[in-house]
Amino acid sequence: MLQPVLQRKALHWLWPEVCAHCREDLPEDALSPLCLGCRLKLLPNEPPCCQRCAEPGASGRAHCGRCDGRLFACQLIRAAFRYEEAAISMVHSFKFRGRREAARAAGSWMAEALPRLPELGRPDALVPMPLHPRRRRERGYNQAELLAEGLSQAALAPVQELARRMRETKPLWALRREQRERELRDAFACPQPERVAGKRLWIIDDVCTSGASLEGCARALLEAGAASVRGFVFARQAKGLLINK
Ligand SMILES: [Zn+2]
Ligand SMILES: [Zn+2]
Repeated sequence: MLQPVLQRKALHWLWPEVCAHCREDLPEDALSPLCLGCRLKLLPNEPPCCQRCAEPGASGRAHCGRCDGRLFACQLIRAAFRYEEAAISMVHSFKFRGRREAARAAGSWMAEALPRLPELGRPDALVPMPLHPRRRRERGYNQAELLAEGLSQAALAPVQELARRMRETKPLWALRREQRERELRDAFACPQPERVAGKRLWIIDDVCTSGASLEGCARALLEAGAASVRGFVFARQAKGLLINK
């Protein structure tokens, strides 16, 4: 009699029993960090959005103001969901509340979005957006790596930590574009260029706000010889929270 009780307790320890969004109790055998109602509140990041960076709202135009007429190391950015409602709660749960299993679930939901994003093509490897080692120690894990693990099987590509963050950067959302670019210069490195050469890579991250971190990381990978670099994120921030477009 004792064993099932212990098992259930172990499961509860691994899997907090409240929904990451509405905080309602989840069934003991729940396989998702969101209840069904909140799972349905994840909004797919569907057009109209910028054809390059997937920022929502560029109706009638192919590109947003930031992408129009510019060339990028990160050719294409796609997002499974909009960074709203339940998607925000999901990100907070694995970024600030230590819920690793929520990041893996989010990665598997990114996988479910792949059929509607054929333009992403096929990757040779998934590169988690690197965290600075100090931040990784504090959190105990890199959430982008867990997202990539959740996605890896469906993307038919291994997770490879090919990029490294060399220094911590200030929060980028508050900076103007030129300041963001200065802040990100030399922030990323690619210590094993021989593993990168000729590969089609996807950088995997939780949230895309300005796309500046993806761009900084993509530049390091391209300089190391990658054939192409694309970004695939769990959630895309919409317009309005950026100071500088
Ligand atoms: Zn809920
Ligand atoms: Zn754009």
